Amino acid sequence: MASNRLVYRRRQSYNTRSNKVRIVKTPGGELRYLHIKKKGTAPKCGDCGTKLPGVPALRPREYASISRPKKTVQRAYGGSRCANCVKDRVVRAFLIEEQKIVKKVMKEAEKKKR
Ligand SMILES: [Zn+2]
Repeated sequence: MASNRLVYRRRQSYNTRSNKVRIVKTPGGELRYLHIKKKGTAPKCGDCGTKLPGVPALRPREYASISRPKKTVQRAYGGSRCANCVKDRVVRAFLIEEQKIVKKVMKEAEKKKR
């Protein structure tokens, strides 16, 4: 009877986070450990914390090997804030500017009264 025990294929011999394996069957019919790489974490919106759509979840080093258009979206704050948060920012900035103009107009109207 053949042994069903498997052996790590690398020097590290502890079951740590960086030493995860999957059992695969080789073309020769034998079972063997396949070392799997750590999963990346998706970039999140800096305001609300949701995962950014359109940006892949990779390990840090892998981001260096993909092109810029794959890491960002073509929008103000693209690849950093989600679309809803950017919308909120735009609306807020617009309202603040409007308020400034209203204040200015009110001040001038008061000046004319006197
Ligand atoms: Zn957001």
